[in-house]
Amino acid sequence: MSNVRVRFAPSPTGFFHIGSARTALFNWLYARKTGGQFVLRIEDTDKERNTDEALQVLLEGMRWLGLDWDEGPEVGGDYGPYFQSQRNEIYDKHLEILRDKGLAYDKEGAVFFKISEEPQIIEDQVRGRVERTEEKDFVIYRSDGSPVFHFVNVVDDLTMGITHVIRGEDHLSNTSKHMELFKGLGAEPPVFAHIPLILKQEGQGKMSKRDKGALIGEYQERKFLPNAVVNYLSLLGWNPKDDQEVMSVDSIIEQFDFKGIQKGGARFDEKKMAFVNTEHLRALVPQAFQGLAREVLADLDIKEGDYFAEVMQLAQPKASSLETLNSYVDYFFKDDFVRQQSVLEKISKKGDPKEKIEQVLAAINSVEGWTVVEIENALLRLARQHGQEKPFAWFPTIRWSVSGLAGGPDMIPMLQVMGRERVIRHLEKAKKLLN
Ligand code: GLU
Repeated sequence: MSNVRVRFAPSPTGFFHIGSARTALFNWLYARKTGGQFVLRIEDTDKERNTDEALQVLLEGMRWLGLDWDEGPEVGGDYGPYFQSQRNEIYDKHLEILRDKGLAYDKEGAVFFKISEEPQIIEDQVRGRVERTEEKDFVIYRSDGSPVFHFVNVVDDLTMGITHVIRGEDHLSNTSKHMELFKGLGAEPPVFAHIPLILKQEGQGKMSKRDKGALIGEYQERKFLPNAVVNYLSLLGWNPKDDQEVMSVDSIIEQFDFKGIQKGGARFDEKKMAFVNTEHLRALVPQAFQGLAREVLADLDIKEGDYFAEVMQLAQPKASSLETLNSYVDYFFKDDFVRQQSVLEKISKKGDPKEKIEQVLAAINSVEGWTVVEIENALLRLARQHGQEKPFAWFPTIRWSVSGLAGGPDMIPMLQVMGRERVIRHLEKAKKLLN
């Protein structure tokens, strides 16, 4: 264990935004990398928005991503309470400290902090050296008696022993105020690392909650793998060595450092995220893939002892997502799949599909054992009868007949797994459709 203490300090709004998740992740990575503590602190001073429901959205999102916290809601810890709404006594005590030092005074009902007017030098771990001088005393308690963000944020970081503040770049402009407050309270400010904004996929500006792909719940619903989302989020502003893209969470923890974090904004890229997810899906051990596949294919009502495992072995290396898995494999498990008209039109341009189906039926009739080798030999014989070396000219028609699609698993293994009876049934049905 090290003395590193980092925190994620969200204000629950009912949405778990990708930017918040990325901030949580970078803090978590740093804690796990250094053997430090990851604290979850809820900045719930806005009573209207910070409902329990909103909190649950956040906690659920964190749990789904696997970002476990060492201290905070539900787990407790020695530095609680972990909700700002429960820390008023602590804030008041710190206000007294400032008053005793002559650094807080009342004006027009509010309480002001008296600044030092000294330049504040932030040795930011990402931005480098940033210098800024506050010019005006600022409010720390409003006239209704409630403490403001800057004050509670600093008092919490101080009293929770936070050593590193890793947060969005939008807070960089607050940091000189925060440094003033730390010093005013007689404390050494923590190390700061301001991480770049996440930019919209296209156009200008920060990703907002209305942008597609901006909310973690969306990925949860779309059956993304949480480790893939973590992997992609880690790339939003952090650059591992050798431009790696697909990484396990353990490998990200091992490699994570401030040096790899870029200054400029990180552009969201939906395609890359989907790619990372596909790669994680294909890399799962077959049992894990099959467990997840069973859940998303529940509608197909696959019986135990069906050829599920064989189909999944064909599908896993080719599947792009769990979200689309059903339409990728449904024809293995039901007879009433749709044969796409557009695919038929395409293959019809290269000869009469009905004739091809008849030829294939004749060729596979003679297959004795339904093995990959024998199916292949039968189709090779068919090709040679027509003066061709390979049977590829028949493949699109076969595929359309047995799946209705233009793409899918490798042809011969697919036919083998489907079984003779099913293949013949589908070919006959397709032939009938063409009458
Ligand atoms: N509640 C603040 C936010 O969500 C926390 C800022 C910080 O991390 O210091 O932006």
